[in-house]
Amino acid sequence: MFDDLRDLYQEVIFDHNRNPRNFHVMQDADRKVEGFNPLCGDRLTLFLKMDGDKITDASFQGSGCAISTASVSLMTEIIKGKTEAEAEDLFSKFHEMTTGKSKEINLEAIGKLAVLAGVREYPARVKCATLAWHTLDAAIKNEQDSISTE
Ligand code: ZN
Repeated sequence: MFDDLRDLYQEVIFDHNRNPRNFHVMQDADRKVEGFNPLCGDRLTLFLKMDGDKITDASFQGSGCAISTASVSLMTEIIKGKTEAEAEDLFSKFHEMTTGKSKEINLEAIGKLAVLAGVREYPARVKCATLAWHTLDAAIKNEQDSISTE
């Protein structure tokens, strides 16, 4: 990765950590799932508003490290307006990127989420970045009220 690109990516992560987007409780949420990453202590509650299989709104509450906060902030922005299938597809692309299974980053498919590609160099941080998405996965499948990455 080029240094200036890396700097840009870090800037986006800092920005989302300082100023998390969609950081509020959603009173009329259709789905609410709590996620916990015991390795780092990241905790979040994800709220979704649904219209059929479409995610019309997303928000979160919680506290965690910069990576987990930036990841869930970016995720709540990107999944609005997506169908459940589109969100699951993004999750699998994001998971491949952060675990290094796919070396190439498809910027068109993954957009801003590419800023978190750097975590693959730090295996201990991968769960910080994927916690939001595992929580989303549980919310979409509507089968659990809380998930843990362990
Ligand atoms: Zn963390």
